[in-house]
Amino acid sequence: MALYGNVILSIPSPEIDRVFDYEIPFEYLNIAEIGMRVKVPFGVKNKLIEGYIIDLSESTSVDSEKIKYISQFPDKVPVFSAEMINTAKWMKERYMTTLSQCLKAMLPAGINLKNEETFVKVSTKQCAGCKLSPKQKSVLDFVFKNDKVKPSVIRKSLGISASPIETLVKKGFLELVNADTEHFFINYNIFEYEKPPLLNDEQLKACKSMLDKNEKRPFLLFGITGSGKTEVYLKIIEEILKEGKQAIVLVPEISLTPLTVKRFVSRFGKKVVVYHSKMSDGERYEAWKKASDGRASIMIGPRSAVFAPFKNLGAIIIDEEHESSYRSEFTPKYSAREVAEKRCDYYGAKLILGSATPSIESMKEATEGKYVLLKMKKRAGNGRLPMTEIVDMRTELQNGNRSVFSLKLQEEIKNALENKRQVMLFLNRRGYSTFVSCRKCGYVMTCSNCSVSYKYHSGSNILMCHYCGKKIPVPHVCPNCGSKYIKFFGTGTQKVEDEARRLFPNARILRMDMDTTKKKGSIEKILSQFGSENADILVGTQMIAKGHDFKNVSLVGIMAADISLNSGDYRGSENTFQLITQASGRAGRSDDRGKVIIQTYQSENPVIKLAARQDYESFYVQESAVRKAMGYPPYGNIFTFLFTGKDERSVIENICLFSDIVKEKHISNITVLGPSQAYISKIKNEYRWRLILKGSDENTLRTLTKSAVSIYKNSKKEKGITANLFINSFSSI
Ligand code: ADP
Ligand code: ZN
Ligand code: ZN
Repeated sequence: MALYGNVILSIPSPEIDRVFDYEIPFEYLNIAEIGMRVKVPFGVKNKLIEGYIIDLSESTSVDSEKIKYISQFPDKVPVFSAEMINTAKWMKERYMTTLSQCLKAMLPAGINLKNEETFVKVSTKQCAGCKLSPKQKSVLDFVFKNDKVKPSVIRKSLGISASPIETLVKKGFLELVNADTEHFFINYNIFEYEKPPLLNDEQLKACKSMLDKNEKRPFLLFGITGSGKTEVYLKIIEEILKEGKQAIVLVPEISLTPLTVKRFVSRFGKKVVVYHSKMSDGERYEAWKKASDGRASIMIGPRSAVFAPFKNLGAIIIDEEHESSYRSEFTPKYSAREVAEKRCDYYGAKLILGSATPSIESMKEATEGKYVLLKMKKRAGNGRLPMTEIVDMRTELQNGNRSVFSLKLQEEIKNALENKRQVMLFLNRRGYSTFVSCRKCGYVMTCSNCSVSYKYHSGSNILMCHYCGKKIPVPHVCPNCGSKYIKFFGTGTQKVEDEARRLFPNARILRMDMDTTKKKGSIEKILSQFGSENADILVGTQMIAKGHDFKNVSLVGIMAADISLNSGDYRGSENTFQLITQASGRAGRSDDRGKVIIQTYQSENPVIKLAARQDYESFYVQESAVRKAMGYPPYGNIFTFLFTGKDERSVIENICLFSDIVKEKHISNITVLGPSQAYISKIKNEYRWRLILKGSDENTLRTLTKSAVSIYKNSKKEKGITANLFINSFSSI
């Protein structure tokens, strides 16, 4: 009797997103399994395509003369468990995409690499005064700079033969290492086992609740910075491992620092693998494989680690759960929290969301009893919450100070430097330089329809509402106070650094932002330089705001708290509150109390005031009222359709067609906004337009979307137009 594999092809096109039956050749009958990768002939030319067996059957509706055979099985074991296939099917519906793309998202990019690749790294043998040819020197330099590289890369980059590399290996200056035996991101040997501290009452209470077998709901661990959340995660994982289960720990990419890794590795050793975008495809594949074959039981990583191929998952922990990076902006546009919830449901695993500033969404779930709310209000180790002071930059301007540093901040920096303490200057770059405000009175140009700030378009010199598309000219005088100091906001980290150098010429200053951290290892370098007190001031973006525990930092300056407040996104207030709280958490990590200076043009703004007091609960009450009133998530839904293409006329035609289809359906309780030009109206010569649907019921919006999309697809076939749907995410559109 024949056996057939029901195969999903790894081709993202929706037209072929269905199962194709292939017969399993006789010699593979005993190895073929659900979840395996295959290579199959496809189309008239029988091109070999990768595919995934999502089911097996003993019969098929395909004619026996037409049935094709599976050509290859690249792996010995399945790459997907039944649970993962199940989750992928759910994702396809939830995120309105193809099964092919959902399955692909679960696999590491490096899966097709041969895993026995060798790399070259610098050995411990020093080469001071030894004789080397210029070519050998350049190889050594190259490997030194790049940490570890494939021989082929060295040869290509330097345009040399293999012989200088071979000579250096023979002489012992370079070492060949196997990717399979060496995991480059973690050097397990340098971490010593660390005995856990005795948990305090708040921590014990949280753990007890989480380990309750009868509690199936997700947990929201709401604990101030430094309250010991990570210790709670470690304890839960310890218990999970005892039961022979595995755990996933999701952290935001930028807080996945060596320090974070160290805490987990010191406790659990080689059971830990890391999944990080700075790792090579091969390294990531290796981490994935260890999780898949049971060598590892804990995977730490950003968003995509939620797909760790564990077979008996005991817990998924999402640290800093409020971070927007847990939502994918690329297809499939999944939310790691939702996927985690789905996976945990399947296994009866614990889902733990941790934050000092929970997202409004999660807190709403907790208030309504859908999540279990656990609070930790005290700092666990040493240190107290810092003193915060708000400085009004309008007053500074009135007093003739045009610097980005208020006099108060200058004085505090001087103080800190004199006392040999360190300073962190934090510039919130979210929504950077895109809103227009008055330096004299703090007035921000805001859309009357949507109560979000206008975005400044420098090309056409106009202000536009990100939501409804309303446009107005840039005013010459402030509509509120008549001053001429109304302009768009523009301060960068570079400018802050330059000015800091001018004001404090003797201070050693480091800067950490996108520009200074492009190179692999540069983040670690800056952090360790600052951590070992070889610098006095660290200037940076949100990258420096979280996680890092620098004992000697006594002062944190938040340069322009307003920027994210006026990002033109409904999450502006939430982001600001989170960033101020996190940045403040960097001060006062040791015994004496730290200080935080918050510079703002809107000192009376309730969000700034509440953030300075670290009063999350009042902030939540206030912000959820605003969201409710405006119909913003989680009290309403925003579906954004983005149409892009090279020919603007055709983009407009298509989006208008789609908009007409939607409007014709006359569904009550749904507001249609636009079509209008997207905030970034053109990227790489592709014009961008969008249409927004707002409504309180998500399912109504989904049903409407599905039927409108199918009508649209049948009524017009324009080439070169891409349409994308973003659900409740806004910032990048
Ligand atoms: P969070 O993750 O909430 O920011 P951490 O778990 O990182 O907090 O804890 C903050 C600091 O307090 C760390 O240095 C940690 O080692 C220490 N710490 C945590 N729990 C305890 C405890 N029960 N006793 C002593 N120190 C603790
Ligand atoms: Zn004004
Ligand atoms: Zn508007």
